[in-house]
Amino acid sequence: MARVFNFSAGPAVLPEPVLAQAAQEMLDWHGSGMSVMEMSHRGKEFIEIHATAEADLRELLAIPKNYKVLFLQGGAAAQFAMIPMNLLRGKSGADYVSTGQWSKKAISEAKKYCKPNVAASSEGDNFSRVPAQSEWKLDPDAAYVHITTNETIGGVEFHWTPDTGQVPLVADASSHIMSRPMDVGRYGLIYAGAQKNIGPAGLTIVVVRDDLVGHASDATPTVFDFKIQAENDSMYNTPPTYGIYIAGLVFQWLKALGGLSKMEEINVQKAKLLYDYLDATEFYGSPVAVQDRSRMNVPFTLKSDKLDKAFLEAAEARGLTQLKGHRSVGGMRASIYNAMPMAGVQALVAFMREFEREHG
Ligand code: PMP
Repeated sequence: MARVFNFSAGPAVLPEPVLAQAAQEMLDWHGSGMSVMEMSHRGKEFIEIHATAEADLRELLAIPKNYKVLFLQGGAAAQFAMIPMNLLRGKSGADYVSTGQWSKKAISEAKKYCKPNVAASSEGDNFSRVPAQSEWKLDPDAAYVHITTNETIGGVEFHWTPDTGQVPLVADASSHIMSRPMDVGRYGLIYAGAQKNIGPAGLTIVVVRDDLVGHASDATPTVFDFKIQAENDSMYNTPPTYGIYIAGLVFQWLKALGGLSKMEEINVQKAKLLYDYLDATEFYGSPVAVQDRSRMNVPFTLKSDKLDKAFLEAAEARGLTQLKGHRSVGGMRASIYNAMPMAGVQALVAFMREFEREHG
């Protein structure tokens, strides 16, 4: 069996021990005689899997008691709609900070439900940075302030937490959740699709402060109402059971590793190795402002885009896959999520050096 180093932006690489354990438990989970996929979500086995996953997530992220954890479906994109549906609380507007393609998608979806105010945007700089809070024009009457804490396509990450006073801060943390500790208490709501740092696509995690639950607008579909899902332990309808199980195994892997501070240390080292090389050469370029560079998604360009095809083919032949940049921006992108081992980044940098020697 040959495993590649998979730099996909998501669905993405998962920890190998997690996949191995899932394989081993596929036909018979802990003597139940069933695969997790075959279990009733109301049965005692799955209730235990679900409760353990939630408890481990709460421990890893140090989620305060006055927050609900929801395991939902629909992806982060469904949250673009569910957030205004649930959080407007009778208000007509919400603030959005626009740092890239995912912010823009969140804003355009919010327009169906309210008047989003773009409080700050780096679009004029080709989304290469996070606007400093001094540039933001917040509306004190906004229902919430929405940010995308890691822009998966542009590779721009918030390395600081904005201060929005009494207005709840809402974060799309899809592509860097669990990559480091987060001060959850400073957010009203954090959401993330699972398919980068947590597990398979199909599971969406929402962490929401209690006082923001219970305000859904009348037209909100029942399954999209945070209160209904919270009251039913995310089981108003059938939850994505297998995704929750894999997420639980990933949380156990993170705990065994030493938790999110340890994970952050490793992620800093991996990102440093790649960025240091990008900075040391003229052959490759990084389009993102140094202070806002993502540790998870590293876009880079080659000296000439005529070399892109040869680069991707040679990388593929070395087992370094999915390095093509997003179709909207071109170039390359290496996603180096939690489960990408240091050896993968080392192999990538070694390959990039060699390619530079041959084509520089
Ligand atoms: N937000 C961000 C930051 C993302 O990276 C993505 C997916 N790549 C989404 C939202 C949309 O997620 P989904 O496809 O799970 O709805």
